[in-house]
Amino acid sequence: MAKKSQSAFDLIKIKEDLTDLLNNFSTLVSSESSDIRERVLTLIPAFHLLRKLGTNIIPRGAALSARERILAYLQRYPERIIDSEELLVVSGITDYQRRIRELRSEMGWPVLSGKTVRMMLKEGEWDSATTEDVSGMKPDQYFFLTSGQDKEAAYRWKLSNEIRNKDISVKDKLLEYFRKNTGRKITGEELSYLAKDAKEWARRVRELRTEEGWPIKTKNTGNPELPVGVYVLEEDKQAEKHDRKIDDIIRVAVLERDDYSCRKCGWSLSMRRPEDPRQFLELHHLDYHADKGANDLDNLITICNMHHDYIHKHKMNKAEVLNWVKTRED
Ligand SMILES: [Zn+2]
Ligand SMILES: [Zn+2]
Repeated sequence: MAKKSQSAFDLIKIKEDLTDLLNNFSTLVSSESSDIRERVLTLIPAFHLLRKLGTNIIPRGAALSARERILAYLQRYPERIIDSEELLVVSGITDYQRRIRELRSEMGWPVLSGKTVRMMLKEGEWDSATTEDVSGMKPDQYFFLTSGQDKEAAYRWKLSNEIRNKDISVKDKLLEYFRKNTGRKITGEELSYLAKDAKEWARRVRELRTEEGWPIKTKNTGNPELPVGVYVLEEDKQAEKHDRKIDDIIRVAVLERDDYSCRKCGWSLSMRRPEDPRQFLELHHLDYHADKGANDLDNLITICNMHHDYIHKHKMNKAEVLNWVKTRED
C-alpha cells in the first residue's frame, strides 16, 4: 500500500511542477518581448517532466528500466492492439523499438508487430474469432501473446542468426529452423526475422506444410490447442508423397468433421502422453493420391500416426479402411 501511495504522490508532484512550467511558458508567450529561442529553452524542462510523468505511471518497484516498463505494460494488456506511442510514454525513450526487439528476440517474449500479425492474417494463420479485429493494424502497433516467455530464446536467437546469414533460399532457412526446433513453439515474429522480413515467409511456411508435407501446425491448421500466432513442427518427418498438397481449408474441414480425433481409436491431441506411440493426427487418402485420389472431404479421413502406419503397412484399400474403422478400438 505504501508503495502505491508513494507513486501516486510522485505523479501528483510531477504534474504540479509541470503545470507551473507550462504557466510560465504561457506568460512568456503572451509577453511580446520574449524571442523564439527563449520559449524553446523554457519548454525543455517541461519535456523532461512530461517524460518523467509517463515513466512513473507504472508503479515503482514493479519496473525499473525502460525495457522492464515496456514489458510490464504489455503484460498488463495482453492480446490487445497496443500503439507504439503508448510504449513511448511508458518507456520514456525514443528508441523504444530496440527494447521491443530485445524483449522479443533475446528474451523470448511473444511481442508481435502489426506487420507480422497482418501477414499471418493474410495466410489464414490468425484465429480472428478469439481476438479483437486486427485487420487494420499498423506496422508499428504491437500485440502481446499469452503464450508466455520462451526460456530457450537465447539459444534460438543464436541459431536463427546463424541460419539467417546462410546463402540458401528463404524456404530452406525456415525448414532448417523448424527442424532444429521440432516440437517447440515458434512465433511468426521469429520466422519473419529469419526470412530477413521477406514478405513471403508465411506463404513459404504454408508451402512447407501443404506441398512438401511437413507437419507444421497452427491453431487454425490442425492444432486448436496452440495459442494464436504460434507455429510448431510436430514431427521431424515429411508426410508420404501421396498425402501432400492438401489445401488448408480441406484439411481443417476433415479434422472438424472427425472431431479432431482418430477415426479408428478416437485418440485426440489432448490425450497425448509421452509413453503413448500415438503423437499426431494425420490425414489419409482413401484413394491414394498416387492413384489420382482427390484432395476432398470424401476422400480423406483423420487418423492417428499409429493407425496411419498400420493402414500403409497392410496396404489397405478404400473399402478395407472404411470397413476397418467401423470397429472402434480404444
Ligand atoms: Zn488411432
Ligand atoms: Zn495415408
